[in-house]
Amino acid sequence: MTSHTKFSGYADPILHAEGLYIGGRWHKGGGIAVMDPSTGNMLTEVADASVEDAMRAVDAAEAAASGWRATPARQRSEILRRWFQLMTQHAEELATLIALENGKALPDARGEVAYAAEFYRWYAEEATRIPGEYRRTPSGSHNILVDHEPVGISVLITPWNFPAAMATRKIGPALAAGCTVILKPASETPLTAYAMARLGEEAGVPAGVVNVLTTTRPAAVTNAMLADPRVRKLSFTGSTGVGRTLLAEAAKSVVSCSMELGGNAPFLVFDDADLEAALDGAMVAKMRNAGEACTAANRFYVQSGIHDAFVAGLTARMAALKIGPGYDPATQCGPMITKNAVRKIDRLVSEAIAAGARATTGGKPLAEDGYFYPPTVLENVPAGAAIAKEEIFGPVAPVYRFENEDEAIRLANDTEYGLAAYIYTGDLKWAMRVGKRLETGMLGINRGLMSDPAAPFGGVKQSGLGREGGVTGILEFMEAKYYALEY
Ligand code: NAD
Repeated sequence: MTSHTKFSGYADPILHAEGLYIGGRWHKGGGIAVMDPSTGNMLTEVADASVEDAMRAVDAAEAAASGWRATPARQRSEILRRWFQLMTQHAEELATLIALENGKALPDARGEVAYAAEFYRWYAEEATRIPGEYRRTPSGSHNILVDHEPVGISVLITPWNFPAAMATRKIGPALAAGCTVILKPASETPLTAYAMARLGEEAGVPAGVVNVLTTTRPAAVTNAMLADPRVRKLSFTGSTGVGRTLLAEAAKSVVSCSMELGGNAPFLVFDDADLEAALDGAMVAKMRNAGEACTAANRFYVQSGIHDAFVAGLTARMAALKIGPGYDPATQCGPMITKNAVRKIDRLVSEAIAAGARATTGGKPLAEDGYFYPPTVLENVPAGAAIAKEEIFGPVAPVYRFENEDEAIRLANDTEYGLAAYIYTGDLKWAMRVGKRLETGMLGINRGLMSDPAAPFGGVKQSGLGREGGVTGILEFMEAKYYALEY
């Protein structure tokens, strides 16, 4: 492993991570190698938190809790607003950092920073509009007053695929609600989280309100925090498997959980769809982050009449994409996050081909040092193939043919997941009718991108519990308190 120093665009010292961020102090250390997925070389090292470090973070969050809870909403709002502004001012440096450690292409990284910062702006606004309720009981016996209080110290665990946005989507509402937090970002992409913490300091977030730690022992560190009665909330984004384990762990101390888990999004194209619009949408839904997104279209179901034209159009677009390191401005498709991710994609594609599928472009990993898999389109994929059941998390578009609406809905719902789905049709009424029958938390109608800070993001079935973003997102970090009033 050689050290990699291509930190162009990373010159701004404010963004340099120094280690764990606990109680407003930086604790230097090493132990976690951060890799450049486009070369397989090491970028830098960050500190590896122990269980004791995590307990110090809980102490710091506890020490800051009552002050933050008592801080007027307007003041909390102004701090979040400044954090939004600082992220916007440092957008290019943050995007470069994301491209370096995550590998995604710069346009995707810039899009992520803008999306991530918006959560601070949105929740700066929501902080001042926390709802309450007052009503008389139906029997007339007394009055009901409902207040919302901050849930308490919150542990936030995030994945590597959106290192900025997955963190701000949790920190924004938590701080707006009046909670103090401990963020544990993925070890693959810690630099973005630490850089954002630096900007938070600059924005005036008081010491201990936001703590950040990286660790190679996520289970031990998280379990210890969940066992501490001062911790009242776990907000997790990641795989369904880890989510299940954490739900079981949180059950031991009945900690409130929000879970944003895996997806297996169907993308339905009906005969009457506008072909060019469907192809544009397919490219966004499939290729944002080179397919490493929970909302990524994982299965393309295309009606017979438009099937061949769709496959030809998608093949041409996918084959034309320029592959390279995320930080190269010409790149349109960056590397995968790890060698293992490439192996998983290779397994799914090879099995599908062995079962009768045909790759119209791509189909094999690239022989490079970095973790590259080329944009791939598969046709004639058997409906029962593993690639139809598992998250691909890569630039592979399997296309399946269907004849009628009932068949499309049956195929689309044939999955344990229910996060996102997409429909392309010229008939909105039809889209709404099909939409009502789809088991999904989010549905894109003639649109390949659905994420927006103002909308509730989340899934049904094994894709998770709760919603992030929108007006409901803040309530995930609050508890209702009911006062029975007689006067
Ligand atoms: P992952 O579940 O492996 O890891 C997610 C986070 O959990 C990381 O920070 C990791 O260090 C931590 N972790 C792992 N094991 C743990 C344990 N036992 N205890 C505590 N923490 C633990 O997922 P990933 O590979 O980083 O991310 C990809 C997955 O995330 C995909 O399944 C994707 O669909 C999902 N995802 C979901 C959403 C959503 O909003 N629904 C968004 C992005 C990603």
